Amino acid sequence: MVPRTYQVRTYGCQMNVHDSERLSGLLESAGYVPAVQGQVANVVVFNTCAVRENADNRLYGNLSHLVPVKASNPGMQIAVGGCLAQKDQGEILRKAPWVDVVFGTHNIGSLPMLLERARIEDEAQIEIKEALEVFPSSLPTKRDAAYAAYVSVSVGCNNTCTFCIVPALRGTEKDRRAGDILAEVRMLVDDGVLEVTLLGQNVNAYGVEFGEREAFGKLLRACGEISGLERVRFMSPHPRDFTDDVIAAMAETANVMPQLHMPLQSGSDNVLQAMRRSYRQDRYLGIIDKVRKAMPDAAITTDIIVGFPGETEADFEQTVHVVREARFAGAYTFLYSQRPGTPAASMPGQIPHEVMQDRYLRLVEVANDIAWAENKKLVGKTVAVLVANGEGRKDEATERVSGRAPDNRLVHVALNFEVGVPRPGDVITAEITHAAPHHLVADRVISLRRTRAGDVGEQPINNLVLLGLPAMRPA
Ligand code: SF4
Repeated sequence: MVPRTYQVRTYGCQMNVHDSERLSGLLESAGYVPAVQGQVANVVVFNTCAVRENADNRLYGNLSHLVPVKASNPGMQIAVGGCLAQKDQGEILRKAPWVDVVFGTHNIGSLPMLLERARIEDEAQIEIKEALEVFPSSLPTKRDAAYAAYVSVSVGCNNTCTFCIVPALRGTEKDRRAGDILAEVRMLVDDGVLEVTLLGQNVNAYGVEFGEREAFGKLLRACGEISGLERVRFMSPHPRDFTDDVIAAMAETANVMPQLHMPLQSGSDNVLQAMRRSYRQDRYLGIIDKVRKAMPDAAITTDIIVGFPGETEADFEQTVHVVREARFAGAYTFLYSQRPGTPAASMPGQIPHEVMQDRYLRLVEVANDIAWAENKKLVGKTVAVLVANGEGRKDEATERVSGRAPDNRLVHVALNFEVGVPRPGDVITAEITHAAPHHLVADRVISLRRTRAGDVGEQPINNLVLLGLPAMRPA
């Protein structure tokens, strides 16, 4: 029997990227195979996000595009999961009756069974759970990269930021037992994984469910004991829970990378109060200072919302002030987006779009100038770059491969055939020769370390293709 093919379309945050790895793993363990590029899959799964206003429009737009495709491919099935499914539930079937399955954020494991039931009963299936039954980490996973993996330490969030819908859709925080997390990390390292990213909506609150305040710092230190694990990252921490023991654990644990992504959202105390972010500007900058003292080379990035209801020009200037003080390596800046169902959506003082847009452009300019200036300081430095799968490939002409430095900066490295052709998962040591606002270039290759991750990820085809370059090059 010809196996049915599948395609998973992922929207939103790292949590969703990780859930999509599980959805792929679940379908493959149920006998499905991934559809190849350009092929119409027998099953298309939308793993949705509900954070931004146009998330709904985009989903229903994509679903309507599939109507003619489904009509000309009998037996094709469409499934919708993720945060928007958890929020809209039956509304999805009312708006898009050609959808076969709707499942929520707490029961992704049900997908294969629901697809089968929909096929046999020829009737759409919907299953939404209001709380998590089993931690999704026990589900099969299909990772995109052999050398890196996400590991969930918690799901859900106990905070109530007024612009955010996540707690309503992912529930209150549930923490995994540290033993389970470390067992999964060891298993991944045995599989050749070099880098793990510990994931949680509020990763550094880890342990709150079993009342252990310093559990996250201890978890980082425990990861330091795992031989073969070269790089540990985590996302996303909340400034309120960013305690000194975590900073010490980062600084004192060799394989915890000097990199921190810590959402600021706003630099204004008035706006932070309206956002219910339970920290203020001085605490945020205080953490940045402590991190920089403990790890002078740390790269710090952030998320910022511009145009939150009630934000005055003076408030906005406070955000610009923090960006100047914090000297972020990168700032993901968003225009405030009214999210039905959140307290902020009905707050007075909604900001006109053109004012938001103007502030957004001004802030991005400041943030980019700083990121570029910080990158320029690294020219002449030597870095170890973990080569990635086709990430940020510039173009064939440059003959560079791409990957991440320990501080998670994107680096394009020249190919040096004397040193050897790297594979995704290998580590190149090279000197940075050029800095751009959002990446670095290292054209002086010093050495190439082949890793087991490179072996595991190596396809029986020429590495150059893996790296998005034309096939074999004359020796
Ligand atoms: S910390 Fe705030 S923004 Fe982040 S998931 Fe929780 S409620 Fe949402």
